[in-house]
Amino acid sequence: MTIDLRSDTVTQPTAQMRESMLAAPLGDDVFGDDPTVNALQEKIAALLGFEAALFVPTGTQSNFCAILSHCQRGDEYIVGQMAHAYRWEGGGAAVFGSVQPQPLNHQPDGTLLLADIEAAIKPDDAHFARTRMLALENTWGGVVLPFDYVEQATQLAKAKGLTRHLDGARLFNAAVAQATANGTNPFHEARRIAQCFDSVSVCFSKGLGAPVGSALCGSRDFIARAHRIRKMAGGGMRQAGVLAAAALYALEHNVARLADDHTLAKRLADGLADIDGLQVEAPQTNIVFVDLAGPAKARSAELIPYLKSRGVLATGLYRLRFVTHLDVDAAGIDQAVQAIQDFFKR
Ligand SMILES: *Cc1c(COP(=O)(O)O)cnc(C)c1O
Repeated sequence: MTIDLRSDTVTQPTAQMRESMLAAPLGDDVFGDDPTVNALQEKIAALLGFEAALFVPTGTQSNFCAILSHCQRGDEYIVGQMAHAYRWEGGGAAVFGSVQPQPLNHQPDGTLLLADIEAAIKPDDAHFARTRMLALENTWGGVVLPFDYVEQATQLAKAKGLTRHLDGARLFNAAVAQATANGTNPFHEARRIAQCFDSVSVCFSKGLGAPVGSALCGSRDFIARAHRIRKMAGGGMRQAGVLAAAALYALEHNVARLADDHTLAKRLADGLADIDGLQVEAPQTNIVFVDLAGPAKARSAELIPYLKSRGVLATGLYRLRFVTHLDVDAAGIDQAVQAIQDFFKR
């Protein structure tokens, strides 16, 4: 059996999720007529404490609609150097929106230093792009931004007149980790994080297990602007309720269980801890990063193909990455650990 740890996007919709898709009432969402899309938008907006939400096909389009709704041509947004909304979206905001990113280096805990944010805000002067927005990402590479930091950074941005966008593709992973630490409810934590921002994007297609879809949340006016941008981007979908039904199902059934993915990530990290030459970052949620050091480093190019030959899929663009999700269990993690141990014994 193949254990696919490349991403939490690889999950197959379950039979129950497919049943909910099959049963969903549908309409033409470009006319605003799809009851299932409308229900999803109302539900996610209410859960996160916003006036409105917009269902979009991808997280990339969601961030794109957010950036272009907050910023005009010649504006800029402050963002992490390794944030998805800068590094991993093909430069879309710059290419299609003429909005310039101002990337900042991350600290090891995923944060952008408040002093760096403040220093990056340009004076009102014709030499400079107008600094308009701060974008944070939570979780970032599986790391939960400390809640106090989220409050401080977003308060600083507000005081400086910037709007604040959260790329919360994995917001619910952050919320579940925070809820576990605080003995609270994941939805309470998700809302607490979200309410520090003017807009929030969440993905249903990651750990929540839906095949497709993200939502952008914000004020009614903001979502009206984003709706126009979505149309320009070709994201106006018709009987999209067939997809929104899967997202609704995911919200209802797959949030609390993210804790299981976090437990499995820890099981994987623990299993790899004693292997010579591996530096394993202790996971906070569902992503385990591993660096090869010393003599092991020279063999890094062989590792991924070897694991594939043992039925274990992983990626390693910058660092070796393993992601847990709905479609892996403890036996799969143990198979991965065994394969990695065997590789280093050869
Ligand atoms: C996956 C991801 C996105 C984009 O989602 P797609 O649906 O793949 O376009 C955005 N931000 C973060 C942090 C992500 O992990």
